[in-house]
Amino acid sequence: MAYVIVGLFGLAFGSFLNVCIARLPRHESIVSPGSHCPRCAHPIRWYDNVPLLSYALLGGRCRDCRARISPVYPIVELVTAGVLLADFYEYSLSPAFVKWAFFSLLIILLIFTDLLERRIPHAVTGLGIASGLAFSFVVPVDNRPAGWLLAHWGVFPGATMNSVIGAAAGALAGGGLFYVVGEVFYRLRHVEGLGFGDVMLMLMAGVFMGAPMTLLTIMLGSFLGTLIAAPLHLATTRFRNYAWPFGTFLGVAAIFSSLGGQALIAAYLRWSGIS
Ligand SMILES: [Zn+2]
Repeated sequence: MAYVIVGLFGLAFGSFLNVCIARLPRHESIVSPGSHCPRCAHPIRWYDNVPLLSYALLGGRCRDCRARISPVYPIVELVTAGVLLADFYEYSLSPAFVKWAFFSLLIILLIFTDLLERRIPHAVTGLGIASGLAFSFVVPVDNRPAGWLLAHWGVFPGATMNSVIGAAAGALAGGGLFYVVGEVFYRLRHVEGLGFGDVMLMLMAGVFMGAPMTLLTIMLGSFLGTLIAAPLHLATTRFRNYAWPFGTFLGVAAIFSSLGGQALIAAYLRWSGIS
């Protein structure tokens, strides 16, 4: 039953994210005017605005002018519901679930604005950095390796301070290492360097995740980007001047890390004999 409720909330949040994805990159209000067809401008009736169901019933077309509705809408709704369900499975009903669910919503939003518009709005990453810092007072952030360094110097901050330091270190790791990996990616895609939006995205991920998970995210995101971009780049000339949405790859990696990253890092540290 709990899963049904989380799933329905996911669809509803996904529906709201669709509005944000369509409007935020254009600096339009997300409240008014109400949803309308982009072609005939007819307002969407409430019963035509039910997530997934309406798209299926309308056959993916506007009821008034029969214009095709982008399949991105139901995809975003499904992805949001799926990720929130995975967060709930991983963290059950806890402050950590609220934190990671909120993080997932922001990341899904940015995955799609970067993919569709090559935009990572500062309004979203700014909100993310502030709320991630606030969450670090409630849900402990992984403070390795900064905590090891402090302990080495004989400094033992309290649990809350530890968490806040972990968030700051994560932001530093995300922003700092990003230039290095960004440089490698730049050589692969031969287009202009990284946007400030990508840096803001990794600052935000760092504040939520702490340093280890942030580094894992950058590694997974770069790997995923290379895995998809390199073969396409070599196979056809069509993608020669294509600006790959690095933020989209990083976002997907961030969601994977937030769900299974701690287990992966723990397994790696055991295997390498560090802990
Ligand atoms: Zn229409």
